[in-house]
Amino acid sequence: MEKIKLKGLSFTELAELIATWGEARYRADQIYTWVFRHLVRSYAEMTNLPVWLRARLEEDTVLETTTVARREFSPATGTVKLLFSLLDGQAVEGVLMRYRNWFSACISSQVGCRMGCRFCASTLGGLARNLEAAEMVDEVVALEREARGAGGRIRSVVLMGTGEPLDNYDNVLRFIHLIAQPQGLGIGYRRITLSTCGLVPGIRRLAREGLPITLSVSLHAPNDELRERLMPVNRSYPLTELLPACREYAEQTGRRVTFEYALIAGVNDSLEHARELVGLLQGFTAHVNLIPLNPVVERKLKRPNPRRVSAFAAVLKARGIPTTVRRELGTDISAACGQLRHQVLKDEGMLR
Ligand code: SF4
Repeated sequence: MEKIKLKGLSFTELAELIATWGEARYRADQIYTWVFRHLVRSYAEMTNLPVWLRARLEEDTVLETTTVARREFSPATGTVKLLFSLLDGQAVEGVLMRYRNWFSACISSQVGCRMGCRFCASTLGGLARNLEAAEMVDEVVALEREARGAGGRIRSVVLMGTGEPLDNYDNVLRFIHLIAQPQGLGIGYRRITLSTCGLVPGIRRLAREGLPITLSVSLHAPNDELRERLMPVNRSYPLTELLPACREYAEQTGRRVTFEYALIAGVNDSLEHARELVGLLQGFTAHVNLIPLNPVVERKLKRPNPRRVSAFAAVLKARGIPTTVRRELGTDISAACGQLRHQVLKDEGMLR
C-alpha cells in the first residue's frame, strides 16, 4: 500500500489518522509543530513523541517528498533557487526572493507544462505530471528553511514557477488550504498569488471558491493576434472570454486582478502595444506588472533595453493604470521559470 504523504494532510485529517491509532489530538499538535515550526526532516527528531508512534509514522507515512538536488544563490539580490528531486526521480524548482526583511516563495505546480507559451523554458519538454499538494508544501518548507537560515520568514507564496496551476486545480486548491492553516505555515490567503496563462473555466471556478487570494493573469499581448502567437492557450480562450472571467473574479473576491506582461524586444514592447493595452484594460480595476523577459536561449527571444521598458510603463501610468516593473531576480541564476530544471535536464542528456 502506498504510504500517506504527511504534509498533504490537513491538521484535522492528521488528528483523525492518529485517532485511528488510538492517540489523542494533542499528538497532532506536536507533530505539526515539529514539521512546520521546527521544520524537522525526520520522525526521529520528534523527541516528545512515544517511540511506538514515531515507528508507526515511519511505517505508514512519508515525511519528506523532496530533496534539494541543486542550489543556486545570487549574491546581488539574495535570491535562492532550488532544484528539487521528487520521490519518482522527477525534478521541479522553487525560488526564494528577498524583499528587505521578508521573503516570498515562488513554487512550481507541475513537472513541466503543456501550455506551450513561446517565451518559456518550462514547456520545452511538455508536461510530465501534476504535483501533489504535499510536494508543493514541501517546496515551501524547503524554501522556509532557506529563509530562516537568512534570518527571515516567508511572508507570501506565489504559484508562478513551472506549470499551469489551474491545469492541476484540485491539488493546487488543497495546497492553498494547507499552507493557510494557522497550525501549519500560516500563510494567509491574501498573501497567496496564483498565476495563470488564462484558463477561463479554472478562473471562473476559482472565483466561486470565494477565497481572497490574488489572481495574476499572464497577458503578454494587447490583442488576440499577437497573444495567439505567443500563447497557444489564446486559441481556446481569447481575450473576449478571458477579460470577463477576470472581471468576475474581481467581483466575487473583492480582489484586484494583476496582469503580467513580459516585455520581449521587438515583439510586444512598442508604444503602440502600450496604447493598445491601455484600451484593453479601460474601466478595469487592475494592476499591470511589466516583466523584462529573462532571455531563453532556445527561444531566441531577448529583453528590451531599460529605456524602452520605462517608456512602455510611462504610457500606462499616464492613463492611470497602476503599473510596476518587476525587479531583477537574478538572471545569473537562471531565474526565469523552468530554466534551471531545463538546464539540468539538458546537462544530463534528457533533453536536446
Ligand atoms: S509560462 Fe507558465 S503556463 Fe506558459 S508554458 Fe510556461 S509554465 Fe506553462
